[in-house]
Amino acid sequence: MNIFYYDIAISLPVRQCFTYKSVIKIKKGSRVIVPFGKKTLVGIVVRKISQPSSFNKAGVIKEIISASEKFTCFDKSIFNTILWASEYYHHPIGEVFFSFMPTILRNQTNKIIEPTKEISNYVLNIPDKNFKLTGEQDANLNKLKKIKNFNPSLIYGVTGSGKTEIYLRLAENIIKKGKSILILVPEINLIPQLEARFKKRFAGDIGVYHSRMTPNKRFKVWLRSKFGEIQIVIGTRSSVLMPLKDLGAIIVDEEHDQSYKQSEGFRFSGRDLAIKRAQLEDIPIFLGSATPSLQTLKLVREKKYKKFDLLRRVDGKKPPKLIPLDITNSPMVGGIALQTMSIIGEAIKKGEQVLIFINRRGFAPLYECNACGWVASCSACESNLVFHKSKNRLICHKCESAFAINEKCPDCGSHDIHTYGNGTERVEEVLKNAFTKVPIIRVDYDSTRLKGSIEAIYEKIQSSNEAILVGTQMLSKGHDFPKVTLCVILNADNGLISPEINALEKVSQQLIQVSGRAGRNNNLAKVIIQTRYPDDINLKQIKTGDYRLISDQCLKVNKELSMPPYSSICIVRAISPKIKGSLDFLNRASLTLSNKRGISVVGPLPSIPFKIKGNTRNHLVIKSPTKTYLNRVLKFLTEEFDRWPETKKVKWSYDIDPYDMN
Ligand SMILES: [Zn+2]
Ligand SMILES: [Zn+2]
Repeated sequence: MNIFYYDIAISLPVRQCFTYKSVIKIKKGSRVIVPFGKKTLVGIVVRKISQPSSFNKAGVIKEIISASEKFTCFDKSIFNTILWASEYYHHPIGEVFFSFMPTILRNQTNKIIEPTKEISNYVLNIPDKNFKLTGEQDANLNKLKKIKNFNPSLIYGVTGSGKTEIYLRLAENIIKKGKSILILVPEINLIPQLEARFKKRFAGDIGVYHSRMTPNKRFKVWLRSKFGEIQIVIGTRSSVLMPLKDLGAIIVDEEHDQSYKQSEGFRFSGRDLAIKRAQLEDIPIFLGSATPSLQTLKLVREKKYKKFDLLRRVDGKKPPKLIPLDITNSPMVGGIALQTMSIIGEAIKKGEQVLIFINRRGFAPLYECNACGWVASCSACESNLVFHKSKNRLICHKCESAFAINEKCPDCGSHDIHTYGNGTERVEEVLKNAFTKVPIIRVDYDSTRLKGSIEAIYEKIQSSNEAILVGTQMLSKGHDFPKVTLCVILNADNGLISPEINALEKVSQQLIQVSGRAGRNNNLAKVIIQTRYPDDINLKQIKTGDYRLISDQCLKVNKELSMPPYSSICIVRAISPKIKGSLDFLNRASLTLSNKRGISVVGPLPSIPFKIKGNTRNHLVIKSPTKTYLNRVLKFLTEEFDRWPETKKVKWSYDIDPYDMN
């Protein structure tokens, strides 16, 4: 009787596989059940090996309990993308496999991988005859349709230039060939409107996949797409490795968006994984944005990606004017200058809608004692607490802990406690007092948490005439507000003077995205940027509304400073109960890297938040000239970690290509 040996990945935080034996042959990527200690666990077959390694004597190798499934869980290209991701992000292989497996399959279950037999056929609803593409859309589409193999394309389209129509036509082209297509968006909130556009164009089931769906629903979409029963799937980053049958192309909408990066656990970029997958499957990938990432623009410059410009709006109208408003000597109410207030009043009088953008939710970001300077901070993580008037609570925005309001100062007993700074709630209150008869609609994390609330809000905006929308970056993404003729940006200065790397890239993307929400129906739309730095050189570029100028400038500066995308960064994070633990560990890591040529190390630095659940957090920033070199250095470092006593006192992780430096 033949005995086969397999390396199996198990969902454990270890960087290795475990060897098991079996008398039957099992395909790579199959789901199996194996004994592990006293338990039995689900595992994934990673490779067949000719014989177990010498330290692992054949006698003690356990047998795979069950490998009965007919279909593999991960087909070749997805399987290979996962192997790549585990190496690139230096993340435990089992955890990477499991994060792309439907929840239902992660445990031992009676559900199996098989067709659902609910097949959807697509019928194209051709838009009516009067519907014509613009010359620009038409010319680009013809070229885009001809792309056959892996050949990443950036669709650089200013807001209102009709990118979605291009996506629909590309999908049509793929479906006609009998293949399937995956469309990624950065946030769940953006799915409904895109899904509606696709449903209108294609009669048939459009698959939707994201983390707020029930495990059963997700499993069904996963099965239907795996067996080709649906051919169009729209989803967030968690759907990047959906097993679509005969995948013909991937579209990544708003490719610059930071939400593609997972911020905890397996910290991958959905966009980058999509690109890797397209490369391994040798299929076209289309990256769309009005404000592309520097990484993508650099690759365009290096002729590795092709760029397709959509610079004109479909309606033929001009983009809104961006007007910096000097507020240095202006009286302010709740973050709004008096001049701004009267401009808002004028728009309201004309029956128009106004969008107020402030990048902070809650009422006020500081709750402070005037007598002694005490500031309310979170007992769990030490971040400053934000006062939420609507809930009458102090809330930590880092860890979401909520606390009762202090009537008097816990340090000195004074009752002289005040709030400072502005958030969406205060702006909403100020506007309600100023415009008593106008609907003031707040759109932020707090007002959209309940299911269906975002839909209700958009409904209200659509059906109102004059109205004022107050919101965070949520308002800046994707959605169109045709009745908005005036945008006001309250606190752009925070971004303009931020010392953080790529702050300019972020703030300009945000400002241009916000301004794109305005004036879809109106030539006279304008965007007011309140600022105390009207002469700021960056603001002057942002004012042009031409993202190409700003991104050119950002690329130039980052090249001079060798910052990403002209270098690669990894943050090593360490968490320990006592601060000494993580500092000793990170200091040793820093020392170990000190003789590596080309590598620069900054830190250890305290992370924000500094404390989570009683543990302290510190980090180290490692910068390397290239991705390949960084990968080699991290491999070396990981092996070092395994030998150090310091490692036992910490929980550590890597964050490759971090978006946020904390
Ligand atoms: Zn006090
Ligand atoms: Zn906290």
